[in-house]
Amino acid sequence: MIKTDVLVIGAGPVGLFAVHQLGITGLKAEVVDNLDKIGGQCIELYPDKPIYDIPAIPECTGESLTKNLLEQIKPFKTNIHLNERVEEIIKEKDNWKIKTNKNKIFIASNIIIAGGVGSFEPRKFSVKGAENFENNGVFYSVKNKSIFKNKKVCIFGGGDSALDWAIELSNLANVTLLHRRNEFRGAENSAAKVKELEKEGKLKIKTPFQINSIEGDQRLEAITIKDESGIIEKINTDYLLGFFGLLMKLGPIAEWGLNLDKKTIPVNTENFQTNKEGIFAIGDICTYPGKLKLILSGFHEGALAARACFKLARPNEKYRFEFTTTSKNIQEKLGLKKSD
Ligand SMILES: Cc1cc2nc3c(=O)[nH]c(=O)nc-3n(C[C@H](O)[C@H](O)[C@H](O)COP(=O)(O)OP(=O)(O)OC[C@H]3O[C@@H](n4cnc5c(N)ncnc54)[C@H](O)[C@@H]3O)c2cc1C
Repeated sequence: MIKTDVLVIGAGPVGLFAVHQLGITGLKAEVVDNLDKIGGQCIELYPDKPIYDIPAIPECTGESLTKNLLEQIKPFKTNIHLNERVEEIIKEKDNWKIKTNKNKIFIASNIIIAGGVGSFEPRKFSVKGAENFENNGVFYSVKNKSIFKNKKVCIFGGGDSALDWAIELSNLANVTLLHRRNEFRGAENSAAKVKELEKEGKLKIKTPFQINSIEGDQRLEAITIKDESGIIEKINTDYLLGFFGLLMKLGPIAEWGLNLDKKTIPVNTENFQTNKEGIFAIGDICTYPGKLKLILSGFHEGALAARACFKLARPNEKYRFEFTTTSKNIQEKLGLKKSD
């Protein structure tokens, strides 16, 4: 059980900046994100795309923005729990008890929901039995590529992730890349690269093919695939990787008794509190008259929510507004000055 002042749901840009604002007010935070990496949409959807409207940063990318936000919260040594989805929240006396899908429990006086468009979940293989092998032969992301060394790996998909992993794993595994169309959707140079690797005998490409069945007992042993005319072929394989894109779902957030307005959470713009005391919503997931789904708006929302969290986390203390430039207290929290 982890006790903290504020549980932040979502490690997108807005959740990360909220950690900074909480940190300078003296509050501890823990962050949970369903994805396997930090950065929300910026990293999952557009890591290399330039962004031109972050105040005082004329140009950055999704990736560099995330890196800088992480650098900015470094002094607060915040734990970020990845690959975990917050499933349940229950009021317990003055605190919230928060449970993840991995049965981790947090106790916090406040929750800040910075859940963006909800949790991103990979689209999965729809054939019977695929779920039985999930994380034991069947994967939708790669966490440790060394497990594929000298193994037979079938990669399904036509987008960038499928192409990138086919190229990367062709160095160490026996890779077959399969796609239901003849053309790949991913970057042209990646599509050209896989074709070149095929010519060099470093990987196999099979298109247009769809998965038909999965075979194996304790572990994955083979798959069958089907072409457009219905002809079935069997491939022995140790691993099956599926890269079919992401589904965006509001997910469990919809079950927490919060007021909802078309998959967003209405908030009071004075402090970004939802209809439940101690639960705040900021960033793309919140709504109010005039809401702009922009990163800069989320930063402002996080600043106000953080101050409001202080009231519940420190009921016997008074929050004092200070500028970072002149506040010794804040600079100490940022590790810039030692106390006298
Ligand atoms: C292609 C594209 C281009 C864009 N360009 C710009 C731009 O130039 N400038 C700009 O300001 N904005 C831009 N945006 C919008 C910007 O990306 C969003 O406003 C911003 O990402 C919102 O940040 P957030 O932290 O609120 O949510 P997100 O970035 O969506 O992050 C939310 C996180 O919460 C996690 N999560 C959700 N539910 C749960 C749960 N139950 N448990 C655990 N984790 C959960 C998700 O996994 C996700 O990582 C663009 C968006 C897109 C798609």
